[in-house]
Amino acid sequence: MLIDSHCHIHDQDTYEFAFSRAQRKTLSAEDYTPEKLLARAEENDVKKLICIGTSHEDSIKARDFAEGHENVFWSYGVHPDEAEKYQVGLEGAPVAIGEIGLDYRNGIGNRENQFKLLEQMLQLAQDNDLPCIFHIRDAFDDFFAVLRNFPEIKRAVVHSFSDSPENLQKSLNEGFYIGVNGLATFADIPLPPLDRILLETDSPFLAPVPHRGEVDEPAFVKNIANFLAIHYQTTFEEVEKITTENTERLFKI
Ligand SMILES: [Zn+2]
Repeated sequence: MLIDSHCHIHDQDTYEFAFSRAQRKTLSAEDYTPEKLLARAEENDVKKLICIGTSHEDSIKARDFAEGHENVFWSYGVHPDEAEKYQVGLEGAPVAIGEIGLDYRNGIGNRENQFKLLEQMLQLAQDNDLPCIFHIRDAFDDFFAVLRNFPEIKRAVVHSFSDSPENLQKSLNEGFYIGVNGLATFADIPLPPLDRILLETDSPFLAPVPHRGEVDEPAFVKNIANFLAIHYQTTFEEVEKITTENTERLFKI
């Protein structure tokens, strides 16, 4: 059994956008409903999924979808891109707080707002004793500085890690897991030891080799596991076992 620890299949709008942008369309638009995505995941042995919230409203959508499916879990998060204007109010029982973090990809104009949002979300994780799902882009120094004020935050994954070997090591030193998705199959990014990896897709984006250009989906977790088996010169089953145990341990699912 495999787990997709980070997907957005509850978010139909994002899937429609990704489909409109896809360079290779092997399926039609109607094949990307949450139910069909879930069915294809199951056919490919991806038996548990975590739907990731990116705003208050989106998190509620993730919650409502997860509540109808035994093998779907959800997280409550407000993405740093929402830092200009956001609402926070945890309703329901998520398995994590995220995705949260800092993102300086489009400049640092709203840095103060991003700090404020991140601090509020870290407090929420601390108060509810929940693990965190971090999205950090070009902002690791500031991220570690904010984290120092929250010493109780010990359980987390840095999702879609694509930074330097130094920041990978610092994340590992914090005790965090690292989320590995399709990026690893086509970009040169540093990878942690297997016992610190969670598999994810971040679908509908970042489809792995050999699905580049297609809309990404949880079923493709299999391709990422395959890539890692080759990279670590081990078996698919070993990758499956270790990453599934890691994910179940972190999120208690
Ligand atoms: Zn995401």
